[in-house]
Amino acid sequence: MAQYNWLEAINVTEEMLIETDNRLPVIWISALDCTGCKEAFIRSFEPSTLDTILNFISLEYSELLSAASGDQIEAHKESIFEKYKGEYVLAVEGSIPGSDEFLLIAGKSVREEIIHAAKHAKAVIAFGSCSAWGGIPAAGLNPTNAVDIRAIIPEDVPVALVPGCPPIPEVIIGTLLHVHFHGELPELDKKLRPKVFYQTTVHMTCHRKPLFDQKLFAQSYDDEGARKGYCLFKIGCKGPTAFNACESLGYDRCISAGFSCIGCSEKGFWDKGGFCSKRKK
Ligand code: SF4
Ligand code: SF4
Repeated sequence: MAQYNWLEAINVTEEMLIETDNRLPVIWISALDCTGCKEAFIRSFEPSTLDTILNFISLEYSELLSAASGDQIEAHKESIFEKYKGEYVLAVEGSIPGSDEFLLIAGKSVREEIIHAAKHAKAVIAFGSCSAWGGIPAAGLNPTNAVDIRAIIPEDVPVALVPGCPPIPEVIIGTLLHVHFHGELPELDKKLRPKVFYQTTVHMTCHRKPLFDQKLFAQSYDDEGARKGYCLFKIGCKGPTAFNACESLGYDRCISAGFSCIGCSEKGFWDKGGFCSKRKK
């Protein structure tokens, strides 16, 4: 299947890429996370994260990525809230603990800090399944009473969910670039995900789909069918119910590597079996 041009999909032309004035201020706050979403953020190829940071967005605060630290970066964050009131994007990674005391950064409750930062944000973007749905911290017994971003921010703040564990790098960058170039979030679906990236299932664009249609299935990860690259549906592939752009953006590494899609962009994927589920033959 031909890959789509995602820059075209978010209506960004070559000419617009040349225009580099007024970078979009971004504050990136991490709560109950593993840093995997930031790892994804720094790995976009087209445009590269480097180009994006140098030309289109200004990453004003990130506990991990900012060169400054301690009081200096905390003071800078506060100054950005004032200087770019209503203009900055608040990126949130990780779910939010139920108790204020559970997670502190610079002596302040992360929960309170996110609420504070969201108040004057142009938009809030939840990067990753943890901030979008609760993710791993909210799975099972949920010992920290973790919640997703929408549980704590005011309803009138525009919010987009960009799930995935982690999300696809180009989807992170594409969502930010849409705000930069168009001044608003991309069109969202009913679950608040950017339609352009979450409009179809992994299955519908999967390179193994012709094998699914021919009913050629691997029955285990080490059988002859698996070696021949047959469809992984019978060994638990969640591609048919996972809305994400992995295959269409060329991030089909799970399935290309011979491992089934675990549906990491879907709500509650850990509680629905994660890596372990297997369909009956
Ligand atoms: S969504 Fe996945 S990669 Fe991102 S913080 Fe949560 S566990 Fe880590
Ligand atoms: S491997 Fe998974 S996503 Fe691909 S065709 Fe089979 S069931 Fe669908």
